[in-house]
Amino acid sequence: MGINGETGILGILGYPVRYSLSPVMHNAALQHLGQNLLYVAFPVATADLAAAIAGFGVAESLVGLNVTIPHKEQILPYLSAVDERANQVGAVNTIRRQGRGWVGTNTDVAGFLAPLAGRVPPPNVTVLGCGGAARAVVVGCREWGCGQIRVIGRNPQKLAAFQRAFPGVRTRDWAELPQILPETNLLVNTTPVGMGAPGQTPLTPGEVDLLPRGATVYDLIYKPRPTPLLRLAAARGLGTLDGLSMLLHQGAIALEYWLGVPAPVDVMYHALTEQLAGKDAV
Ligand code: NAP
Repeated sequence: MGINGETGILGILGYPVRYSLSPVMHNAALQHLGQNLLYVAFPVATADLAAAIAGFGVAESLVGLNVTIPHKEQILPYLSAVDERANQVGAVNTIRRQGRGWVGTNTDVAGFLAPLAGRVPPPNVTVLGCGGAARAVVVGCREWGCGQIRVIGRNPQKLAAFQRAFPGVRTRDWAELPQILPETNLLVNTTPVGMGAPGQTPLTPGEVDLLPRGATVYDLIYKPRPTPLLRLAAARGLGTLDGLSMLLHQGAIALEYWLGVPAPVDVMYHALTEQLAGKDAV
């Protein structure tokens, strides 16, 4: 469908957003659905967030936005309302128009859980990193029915804040990993370490060796495929999951939140994998 005077806008708000795969995934879906909508990236620095939200409110063609680093928590004061899921996580990743204001939700939790459907919840989960994605992972693990959840961070103040937000979770320093890894059934990497950087891993090969047989390593990043961490885990015969399914499903649920119609998940997956393989998807 061509762009005309009635074309509506969806997009992703973050900084930087240049490398986001969301425009490719969502434009493929919008084209497939025959929607007169376009999805674009909005790079907005933190200092400009208030002005951007005010401007978005009066630009009537803007229908909804994904929200990413660094705005997922910072945007909360500018929203008219958030749903229960966003409240649980303490962050939003999707907003839609309501009058001249915006209401928000968080689709990262359902996205995280999507590739785990049908699996038995593990007794011991270790989460590397204590940022926004870790919050969604903890909410997801609780909903799934996991036992003990440990969250590993390198900044004591941020760990303390995480502990206050999620009192049942045990927060730990990276130095404690040698004791924690041998009893970890599911390890989730929520740090960006290794994203687009083949040589970098959040765990050393020796640390990966400490994970028990039967453990699964879930890396929220998805580039390169396999990620450096998942390459190490696979070499040890451990289960592996990367973040592509989470990216796909959080996006599909966001699209349904904006449009109220089922998302074409296969079309979106194809667009993502073509883009990651270096081909033009649409
Ligand atoms: P964030 O809020 O910035 O949190 C990142 C966390 O990683 C922080 O705890 C940070 O610690 C830690 N960290 C960063 N570099 C580190 C290093 N070199 N060593 C140890 N810890 C380090 O970011 P986020 O929103 O949680 O996102 C994290 C990653 O998840 C990103 O790569 C993002 O692309 C990915 N993600 C993927 C999906 C998906 O759909 N697949 C969804 C959400 C996020 P400090 O605070 O001490 O810096």
